[in-house]
Amino acid sequence: MTIELSGIGVSHGIAIGRAMVLGRWQLDVPHYRVVPEEVPRELRRLARALKQARGEIEALRDQTKQRLGAKYAAIFDAHLLILDDRKLLRETRRRIRERRMNSEWAVAASVQQVLDALMSVDDPYIRERGGDITDVHERLQRIFLGQDNPHHHDLQLTADTVVVAHALNPSDAVWLHQAHIVGFVTEAGGKTSHTAILANALDIPAVLGVDEATRHARDGDLLVVDGHHGMVIVEPDEQQLDRLTAERAHLQQIEVGLVGQRGPAVTRDGIELRVAANIEFPEEMTTVRRVGAQGVGLYRSEFLFLTSSPQLPSEEDHVRAYRQIAERAEGELVVIRTLDLGGEKYFHEVLDGEETNPVLGMRAVRFCLARPDIFRTQLRGLLKVAHEVGNVWIMVPMISGLAEWRAVKSFFETIKKELREEGIDPAGVPLGCMIEVPSAALVADQLAREASFLSIGTNDLVQYTLAVDRNNLSVSYLNDPWHPAVMRLVRDTIAAGHAAGTPVSLCGEFASDPFGALTLLGLGLTMFSCTPTSIPEIRSLLRAASAWEAKRVVEEAMRLGTGREIRERVEDAFGELVENVLGPELSPLPAREATRQPRT
Ligand code: PEP
Ligand code: MG
Repeated sequence: MTIELSGIGVSHGIAIGRAMVLGRWQLDVPHYRVVPEEVPRELRRLARALKQARGEIEALRDQTKQRLGAKYAAIFDAHLLILDDRKLLRETRRRIRERRMNSEWAVAASVQQVLDALMSVDDPYIRERGGDITDVHERLQRIFLGQDNPHHHDLQLTADTVVVAHALNPSDAVWLHQAHIVGFVTEAGGKTSHTAILANALDIPAVLGVDEATRHARDGDLLVVDGHHGMVIVEPDEQQLDRLTAERAHLQQIEVGLVGQRGPAVTRDGIELRVAANIEFPEEMTTVRRVGAQGVGLYRSEFLFLTSSPQLPSEEDHVRAYRQIAERAEGELVVIRTLDLGGEKYFHEVLDGEETNPVLGMRAVRFCLARPDIFRTQLRGLLKVAHEVGNVWIMVPMISGLAEWRAVKSFFETIKKELREEGIDPAGVPLGCMIEVPSAALVADQLAREASFLSIGTNDLVQYTLAVDRNNLSVSYLNDPWHPAVMRLVRDTIAAGHAAGTPVSLCGEFASDPFGALTLLGLGLTMFSCTPTSIPEIRSLLRAASAWEAKRVVEEAMRLGTGREIRERVEDAFGELVENVLGPELSPLPAREATRQPRT
């Protein structure tokens, strides 16, 4: 019988294969009290299990690094941090020592305490980190029991297979990475979970959060996984199968076609544009080149700090990472952003974890100016590579106005002088200012006169202009880059750059949205920086557009009063163009077929 299930699509594409349903591993934790004389033995059991877990996680990290790259291996660094968590360890030992619980019970009780605390946090990103803790916990319990990971079978698959599971943990990445696994479906996991990161790493269609998927699908059932629309069809009928097989082939064709159209984007009316990539890891340069991006418009260097955590990257680490990116860009421009830790960003040991309001606190450039030792090491690494390879621009996040900008510039000059005294002259390396705080956007004219370039970060500009935490799901309905207040700040920043003759780019998510990109074209933007996989689409669209026409539409739309009205006006004007270029399948407009669910 055909069953249609819906969930959260976290990847593009359609997969068709036979189901392999993984049973849920039941955690059966033994509970007993030990006599006082047995406490030391129990503590030794705990220490041995922790040591074995460390060995297993390190081995997984190395295998994952080889197969999928450092970005995904970093997940296991997070697991090592959990193993090393002093509070967790202290609590567990205390339970063994004072309450004389056996090790398994003590670990389970301490983990539960952490999970309960996480569940009370509103932020879904933080809540989903509970998955990592559960993963580490299950590993420890298995070690106590002397069992192997139930998912780590040595599979000899010969046919296309869709894995259906309650949850897939990061540790499953290693065995999931094999030729015949074409998709996966899980009951747990959300948009920002590690399972979603896994789907991207493996580059296969996946639908998460599917209610009772392991009950509806049985081993060997034929499954269709539509990662774009978040749909799963169990045992499709012949008609559905034919339609979806054709759609899969069509989607693949579109992707290949769009990737193939490399080179600069010039609009129909002759305006030359640059479409660069946003990246987080040097390894992504392979994708950057595959999609034909014109260099990198934003490298989020905080990931370098994250992967070296709890240590800080050395000057040599900085040089190695930046050189790898700059050299692999083959002469194209690479814009590297200085450290943006803090706020909602990834946590690092060096940050003060006690800030009451971290999004408005010691974040990004504020942190860098307060920690000149860390800022200096990064700037030295950056300037050395910029001097050596030549195609590097440096950009500073979260600038709030001219005073802060001048403080950064003066520090930058000090480091340059220091390097000159060592015989390296990094003259002429551009230093740019991100515009992502409303106060900076309001004085963009002044900043444009003193910075080498501006780069608008709409992700934060929306957050700070509209006072809406970008990670808080309950207010996400207010998170709207189309809001007239945001649009005016973007428009005026671009105009300020033009007036001062200072280049302006935009690296927020808005540039990766087809209608967002067309709107930005209408506002006079010429430098776009997008998520790598969206580049073929955005580039094709911009080539098919007329800058003059976009300007006319956007000028008129900007007179409207709400974000929704502006977006709908732009969608009305360009809906046909977008569908013509991208096809209805890749169009971001709500799906038109009756059988389709809207994108989540
Ligand atoms: C932005 O804020 O738009 C941006 C590009 O930076 P991030 O998303 O890293 O804060
Ligand atoms: Mg930002």
